[in-house]
Amino acid sequence: MIQKESDYKSKLLSFSFCHSEYILAPHTYYKIGGPADFALIPKNEVELEQSYQVLQQISLPYFILGGGTNVLISDKGFRGVVLITSHHKEFKPLGNDRYFISGGVELDWIVREVLLRNNYEGVGALTGIPGTIGGALFMNAGTINGCICEWTEKVFLLSPDGKKEIDIKSELYGYRSQRFCSMYELICGAIFRFQKSDKNQQLVYEHYMNRRREKQPQGYCCGSVFKNPAGYHAGKLIEECGLKGTRKGGAVISPIHANFIINENNATFDDVLFLIRLIREKVYEKFNIKLEEEVRILFEDGCLQTCKHSKNQEG
Ligand SMILES: Cc1cc2nc3c(=O)[nH]c(=O)nc-3n(C[C@H](O)[C@H](O)[C@H](O)COP(=O)(O)OP(=O)(O)OC[C@H]3O[C@@H](n4cnc5c(N)ncnc54)[C@H](O)[C@@H]3O)c2cc1C
Repeated sequence: MIQKESDYKSKLLSFSFCHSEYILAPHTYYKIGGPADFALIPKNEVELEQSYQVLQQISLPYFILGGGTNVLISDKGFRGVVLITSHHKEFKPLGNDRYFISGGVELDWIVREVLLRNNYEGVGALTGIPGTIGGALFMNAGTINGCICEWTEKVFLLSPDGKKEIDIKSELYGYRSQRFCSMYELICGAIFRFQKSDKNQQLVYEHYMNRRREKQPQGYCCGSVFKNPAGYHAGKLIEECGLKGTRKGGAVISPIHANFIINENNATFDDVLFLIRLIREKVYEKFNIKLEEEVRILFEDGCLQTCKHSKNQEG
């Protein structure tokens, strides 16, 4: 383990795809986030593996960032290394409706170029979700119509113990959660198996895109901030607390959908965090329900569930 600052600095900076004091805001949909001490931005499989390897060799905390559509990052940045996956894009048709897709490919591209072109099922579940395949698998992204893991056959991971191939079974995932990748592991890619549909998926796509345009607030945000607690709708609980339209600095709880917090006017990390905490407090007071964040919050010294190596942590 390389612990001396000058040693890990020179090791990291020996890679052409490593940047120091790297501002994260442009990589997030909130447009919030200060500098990471280092950012690794690999563009191919070799660089991706080198990046992950070096993270195992140095004593700095690290965080894996996909499309940044579901993260809120401190204005102070992150005292560690951020591995940004979104520049590594690989896509291979394998025949028989199976595809290898690397973690950095955009989900939206897959919906348009693979599902729609082949009239595959899954369009109703995955339409309109921004971000990468890696982020979607980590979060088990989806909607009421299904989730990405349903079409996933195998996931390829890099872990501190080496390379792993996980066969995806239904017991490994649930609502916006999964048990095959922890916070210290990296999803390099996955094999998907899709199925032809007998419905016109282009119409399904247009239906759900229109619905999002009509019902979803526009602006810098992470989508739903909280998961729906079993049997409840988080947005409705927040709305019933009278919190729609509540502001803090440049952030606002959307008057259109109470589970969305929008960065309306140069909001800070603390503005958004204040509203997240306010919502949790008020919903607990009124309904005795503890809301759980869907958004991943990255503090200066680590994540909510810290990103430092700990094999006991679940992602
Ligand atoms: C307007 C809007 C609408 C949305 N609608 C939906 C929706 O309908 N359904 C839904 O499920 N989500 C929705 N989201 C949330 C978000 O788009 C998804 O969670 C998305 O799948 C996250 O992907 P990402 O690449 O942006 O991940 P990021 O936000 O970059 O990261 C999210 C988490 O995944 C981890 N991660 C990312 N890539 C990898 C990787 N390769 N290996 C290991 N870990 C990784 C990160 O460490 C982090 O913990 C919405 C967001 C927005 C902004």
